[in-house]
Amino acid sequence: SLTIGIVGLPNVGKSTMFNALTRNNVLAENYPFATIEPNTGVVPLPDKRLPVLAELVHTEKIVPATVTFVDIAGIVKGASEGEGLGNKFLANIREADAICEVVRAFEDDDIVHVNGRVNPDDDIDTINTELILADLQTIDNALPKLEKDLRGKKIEPAYMEAVKKAKEILESGRTIDQAASAGEINKDDVYDLHLLTAKPFIYVFNVDDNELTNEEFKAKLAQSVAPAPAIFLNAQFEAELTELDEADAREMLADAGLEESGLDQLARVGFDILGLQTFLTAGEKEVHAWQIHQGWTAPQAAGVIHTDFEKGFIKAEVVSYDDFVEADGSMTKIKDEGKLRLEGKDYVMQDGDIVEFKFNV
Ligand code: GDP
Repeated sequence: SLTIGIVGLPNVGKSTMFNALTRNNVLAENYPFATIEPNTGVVPLPDKRLPVLAELVHTEKIVPATVTFVDIAGIVKGASEGEGLGNKFLANIREADAICEVVRAFEDDDIVHVNGRVNPDDDIDTINTELILADLQTIDNALPKLEKDLRGKKIEPAYMEAVKKAKEILESGRTIDQAASAGEINKDDVYDLHLLTAKPFIYVFNVDDNELTNEEFKAKLAQSVAPAPAIFLNAQFEAELTELDEADAREMLADAGLEESGLDQLARVGFDILGLQTFLTAGEKEVHAWQIHQGWTAPQAAGVIHTDFEKGFIKAEVVSYDDFVEADGSMTKIKDEGKLRLEGKDYVMQDGDIVEFKFNV
């Protein structure tokens, strides 16, 4: 499954946040046979629709989609040269599908900042510079062979141009993700290089709890990383939330003027940035949010439930979540009102589709 690697300088609150994430672990509950590594946290994708559906179809069992985070320790200045845990660090990031950068924006004189003072921009710069240097190394290592392949007409000149473009971008101190957002390069064109900075980035600012509702303060930080998404949370506050039962947690959030926990926001944004979406099944046995890639067709989606469903796919019976709720979950009513859609093999799944697949065995 796709993973999000959590990186950040020491003492920014990564462990505090990661421990809170793993306390939220859904794996044990819903996937008892899966083994999970100690540095992996599998958290539920928050989805308010699921309990609504469960009530309508009279089931207790809800299986949410999940988001997997991996705690990647060891970023330091010089990581790209193999300093400290550098090499292992880079290898771990390479395996992740997206990068979540935790940045310290909280003030606390008792907690030493590795660079001497709290400066989110500098911290992001320190980390991104290491990733950029590692990517430049990747390109420089690849270039001699690419030159040769170009002469031997084994690669297209356009590919070489894209590689050189990527090198220029990195040399200017920017990530491929940033440049791609600005329309300067197409990530697909340099996919074969597996560059670290071509992964999607999310920034998590660990802020003092009294800044959580300071829109001006947050907007400034968000702007510094835009258009990459930014999440604002207080790691200690999140840790406390995970110790409470649902009602108390909701009250604590409300008292802080918040609607959703930072970790829930992170899970949602992370899921989206991985290019994932869900579709739903709802029956007496369970309500289930299945995860698929954005843009997948009905047979591909069916294959997530069972490979036989994809092979023998005939059609999908689809009703939108809103129509389902409006009809109080009555399939008779949904059919009578013409709201059950029959979709074929080219149908592209939409978020909120409630589906039943018809297939040959
Ligand atoms: P890591 O090195 O990035 O994993 O950071 P830790 O999670 O170990 O946190 C470093 C120190 O900062 C610990 O003493 C935490 O209790 C403290 N800390 C973490 N988050 C916050 C926060 O939001 N506010 C304050 N004041 N301290 C925090």
